[in-house]
Amino acid sequence: MRPDLTGFTLAVLGGDAREMYLATELAILGASVRVVGLPLPATPQVVICDDIVSAVEGTKAIVLPVPGVNEKGQIYATHGTMPLYLSEETLGRVPPGTPVFAGVARPVLRELVRRLDLVLVELMDLDHVAILNSIPTAEGAIMMAMERLPITLHGSEAFVVGFGRTGVTLGRVLHALGARTTVVARSPAQRARALEMGLRAVSFAEFPEHIHRADVIFNTVPALVLTAELLRRSRPGLLIIDLASGPGGTDFAAAERLGITALLAPGLPGKVAPKTAGRLLAVTIAEYLTGAR
Ligand code: NAP
Repeated sequence: MRPDLTGFTLAVLGGDAREMYLATELAILGASVRVVGLPLPATPQVVICDDIVSAVEGTKAIVLPVPGVNEKGQIYATHGTMPLYLSEETLGRVPPGTPVFAGVARPVLRELVRRLDLVLVELMDLDHVAILNSIPTAEGAIMMAMERLPITLHGSEAFVVGFGRTGVTLGRVLHALGARTTVVARSPAQRARALEMGLRAVSFAEFPEHIHRADVIFNTVPALVLTAELLRRSRPGLLIIDLASGPGGTDFAAAERLGITALLAPGLPGKVAPKTAGRLLAVTIAEYLTGAR
């Protein structure tokens, strides 16, 4: 049964195409939604606000975009004409205990929420959300590789670095496409899972002996793993799609020096499947608020 948000007033602050679908879906689920910084049409259930204060006052929960706020407190927003800032004063308009949803939270947001005694819900920390989110991520990464590689993925040597929620999905889809897929993972259990799935698996210690085979490397490890030393052993024409958060896991300067195309690819679900991604987040928020999960 779909969760029912009738009677809930929620504030959606900033975001991109994904949050437009998220806000729309929250309204479909019955909520009254107050929106700032998104070009949505006003409807009886979607109120467009000029500022954050009028959006948050009296709301049951605050929904921030997946990337949350940056170190200056600026809310990620691709559509608004004015930058949106989250301050202690504006966020303090809601009572202690109010949930604040974001995909991921930087220290600035954590500290604000802690000081005001609000409840921070990091949606990407929830396993089921991260797993479902890995589907559009993998599709987007494969789309990028197809656009840039001069060969088919079928028959190519594809490496997946890191074998968590995103890596497993990517490995499965690459294998299904006929790519000769090698997983690089530090955990013996993850390497065993890769073998069970019919993939090759190597440790980081073994990686230098194998990287020369790679046509394309998808990195999902949010730490520097594709180092200059390692990249020097790669073959000409290598493509790197780096999916990891923050600065990624690639020495991009070294890649450039070596003539390797290395692309940092953040936020793929919001780019390639904003409707799927927005709906997933809306339903997860609704389930949280109604205690359905
Ligand atoms: P995850 O389930 O935690 O998997 C991370 C993988 O990286 C695991 O295999 C983990 O190994 C490994 N790892 C972490 N730190 C490592 C290190 N220092 N050295 C070697 N291996 C390490 O995470 P996920 O959900 O798959 O997400 C992976 C990354 O992709 C995150 O940074 C996430 O923010 C990002 N992401 C990006 C997009 C996008 O659109 N670009 C979409 C979704 C997620 P252990 O299990 O041994 O720790």
